[in-house]
Amino acid sequence: MTIGVEVPSNTSFDVAIIGAGPSGSLAAKLLRDNNVSVIILEGAEFPRFSIGESLLPNCLNMLEKAGLLPSVIEAGFQYKNGATFERAEERSSIDFRDNFDEGWGTAYQVQRADFDKILADNASKAGAEINYGRFVTKAELGKGACILTHKGKDGTVETVTSKFALDASGYGRVLPKLLDLETPSNLPERSALFTHVQDNIEAGDIDRNKILITVHPNRKDVWYWLIPFSNGTSSVGVVYEKNEENLNEDDLFDALINQTRLGKILSNAERTRPLGKMSGYSCNVSSLHGPGFALLGNAAEFLDPVFSSGVTIAMKSAELAVPQILRELNGEEADWQNDFSIPLKQGVDVFRVFVESWYQGGLQNIVLHHPETENDLTKMMVSILSGYAWSEHSPLVQKPKRILRLLEELCA
Ligand SMILES: Cc1cc2nc3c(=O)[nH]c(=O)nc-3n(C[C@H](O)[C@H](O)[C@H](O)COP(=O)(O)OP(=O)(O)OC[C@H]3O[C@@H](n4cnc5c(N)ncnc54)[C@H](O)[C@@H]3O)c2cc1C
Repeated sequence: MTIGVEVPSNTSFDVAIIGAGPSGSLAAKLLRDNNVSVIILEGAEFPRFSIGESLLPNCLNMLEKAGLLPSVIEAGFQYKNGATFERAEERSSIDFRDNFDEGWGTAYQVQRADFDKILADNASKAGAEINYGRFVTKAELGKGACILTHKGKDGTVETVTSKFALDASGYGRVLPKLLDLETPSNLPERSALFTHVQDNIEAGDIDRNKILITVHPNRKDVWYWLIPFSNGTSSVGVVYEKNEENLNEDDLFDALINQTRLGKILSNAERTRPLGKMSGYSCNVSSLHGPGFALLGNAAEFLDPVFSSGVTIAMKSAELAVPQILRELNGEEADWQNDFSIPLKQGVDVFRVFVESWYQGGLQNIVLHHPETENDLTKMMVSILSGYAWSEHSPLVQKPKRILRLLEELCA
């Protein structure tokens, strides 16, 4: 056993960020653009695998504002212009460009190991100090004075002091755990099994420019993703609530895949990663901020993977938090509740309505039978699926339940 040796801190920053995922790196870059001194403490060594590979067009607006888009474009990720939905013989596609908002109508399907490294490297180039392989284990937080204790694999323990701390630790949920902020999600516990494959998919079987979402022919709780990448590999995953036949995970994955057309599409595929599993990923917190800290991305809340909203929400949280931090650093009063929590939750709650409707079956029917995209209601739905869940001018953002009911009636 290695016993940590605590060394006194001599490093002090304006902002310390826990985690270099999309929310942490975007926040770091935006802060550096305002000459704020930033340190990121990242537990892993990069590049590292992460789930969450299908981006929504609204991500590109946020990357562009932060000056990160050119590097993402140059990386040659798979271009994405929409989503195809399938259930047995039913099939329908949406094109993100037919949406109700201004801004990007296309996105990318990204290997997160590469994508996250690009964002982190850009934050570093802009002057953020990133310490990899450092796990944050303790936090003492107060307005204007924060101390984070972090530990390396070699057992060394160090501290960093800062005026503000951002928790961008994703599923690590460092501050919610340390500060006892975790609350149960109102969504049932679901699981996801996933892998990467050399897909060997025959031309014409799928549109590689779209994520393919397949719904199980007779189970509303089971759906699958197929996210093609630009190098002939794909991310494949299945989400389910109950392992009804009590199969081991590999057998369950294969059995569920073979109950849909995916079995045929992927008949020549070869796994390039071992099967991964995540369960009970939906989570919530009692507060998104407190004296000296705020929670970003998944460290705060995670709904469900079905609409690929995770990275969009993570980036939006960074975009909303940074102006508040700048205010505090300038000695002004920041209204975290009205200018961060409430606006962030507005968009998250729109996605929540979509997620709930999906598992009840309503949204599954809507996406499979939606009216032509000239219809404004369809355009509004496409906008949300493109990540525009914060658009004040959209009636679907203002009254998501009512408008979805209307769409459901239209589709029936
Ligand atoms: C099955 C599944 C499929 C998904 N698919 C999609 C999708 O297609 N599209 C999409 O947009 N989203 C998807 N998501 C959600 C997506 O994975 C997350 O929303 C997104 O990665 C959140 O970004 P983040 O910056 O908050 O955290 P992360 O990307 O998780 O980054 C957090 C970082 O913090 C580090 N960390 C953790 N603990 C510590 C610690 N103690 N100290 C220091 N560092 C620490 C981690 O190493 C990590 O690098 C999916 C989620 C699931 C469960």
